Amino acid sequence: MSGPAKVACITLDAAEQSLLRQWVSQGLLPNFGKLLKESVTSATRNPEIIYSGTLWPSFNTGVWPGRHDNYFYLQPDFQGYGLRRFLPEHLSVDSIWNAIAQQGHRVALIDVPKAQLSRTSRTLQVSFWGEHEVLHPLTCWPPSLEQEVQQIAGTDPVGACDLVRQRPQELLRLKEGLIERATRRADLALAVLARGPWDLFALNFSEAHCAGHQLWATRDPKHPQFRADFRALLGEDPLLEVYQAIDHSLGRIVDALGRGAFVLVLATHGMGPRYDAAAALDAVLCRLDGLDVPKASGPIENVRKMWLQLPGAVRGPLRRLADLLYDAPRQRERATRRFVAIPTTDNCGGVRFNLRGREPKGLVEPGLPYQELCDWLERELLSLVNVATGAPAVARILRGDLLFAGPFRNQFPDLVIEWNHAAPIPAVRSPRIGELRVESPNPRTGDHRPKGLVLARSTDLAPHALEGAMALVDLAPTLAARLGVELSGIDGKPILDFLPQHTHV
Ligand SMILES: [Zn+2]
Ligand SMILES: [Zn+2]
Repeated sequence: MSGPAKVACITLDAAEQSLLRQWVSQGLLPNFGKLLKESVTSATRNPEIIYSGTLWPSFNTGVWPGRHDNYFYLQPDFQGYGLRRFLPEHLSVDSIWNAIAQQGHRVALIDVPKAQLSRTSRTLQVSFWGEHEVLHPLTCWPPSLEQEVQQIAGTDPVGACDLVRQRPQELLRLKEGLIERATRRADLALAVLARGPWDLFALNFSEAHCAGHQLWATRDPKHPQFRADFRALLGEDPLLEVYQAIDHSLGRIVDALGRGAFVLVLATHGMGPRYDAAAALDAVLCRLDGLDVPKASGPIENVRKMWLQLPGAVRGPLRRLADLLYDAPRQRERATRRFVAIPTTDNCGGVRFNLRGREPKGLVEPGLPYQELCDWLERELLSLVNVATGAPAVARILRGDLLFAGPFRNQFPDLVIEWNHAAPIPAVRSPRIGELRVESPNPRTGDHRPKGLVLARSTDLAPHALEGAMALVDLAPTLAARLGVELSGIDGKPILDFLPQHTHV
């Protein structure tokens, strides 16, 4: 092996593919643009609707969500009606990175979200140096690496991006912090590559993810949270500046890898304006079931609003406690209802039934009564209208039975709602519920879109664009196959177009 890695996987978390393509065509992302020209490229297919929380576990394990059991950081807890914090170490399926390491290969992972890697003399892992979801403090294997990481890259200049408020100075600090983090990430990558050679080297850029959620409105005059007066401080397009910093670092890493490596670059999923009705979902469900919207929710929402006005430094250490306190009054109420909204990322809605035999005080009979209630609820939700536009507020609804087939089906929502993201949804209306305002406490201005983009570059592949979309679960098995590691018992399989034997006609 001549270079520092045989196979390299560089992921751009939540980097919107339409922006990548637009900025490549304008010559603004020269390194990504060069890779795009030199690679076999394809769209990717993520888990449907509820992809943003399930994507990383699916990528790491090569199985779809019903087989790895993770969709959000808070999931139903079956002892009662509460929520449990789901951490990456709770995943019940092993990672493909471990399967590769077990075959004797040397594996290095940097900030790959939710990736499990066993600790051996052949593995290296940096976790939570600068991830979007800050679930643990910086963790390194081997432990001696921690000091080196601090020396080379310092501490994360951003931290938990969701603690940032939509205020110009805070957004400016966020933008500058993300640019800094993307830059130092390349320093970290180069130092780890210098410890090679690696059979597999994987690194994730989290910066486009944080920037997309927090900075989306700063570049979008049509967004209701756009503020023209922020521009003097923040510039015309803060998101572009963050993407350019990523592009620069990507170029440095790809140069260091040299031409001998197989390089896979994945823009995991996308980003667009955060237009949804998630905040009104539970009130909608109450009205549909003929219940008053719970009295407790007014004061709770007011306290939550005040809470979110506090500086991030105050909220940060108390965030977990705040989650618990916010949810506590809902637990008793969930036991008394036939169906409730359960937390998911805002870009979709989750509905869970209080099912006899599954929930401790189930009210809905399984079988036909459950199916009929699903059908009815689906029709009612699809009839919701965005009062601002008259268009449907819900784009589509899928059943948990279909989306999450597998041993963990019961831990997921029963219905998953895709909002119509075309326009802001200030209120929803239907003949049965009347009108309900959507007042979101979430200050994010951008949220996810499902499309991903993958590039594979290797001297044994002829650059071309593929039609169709590659399943997310096929990507890690492809990296394994490039190292001669065959896997069985998972949903994913190697992508022939990315393997050397394949001759494209
Ligand atoms: Zn996100
Ligand atoms: Zn973030």
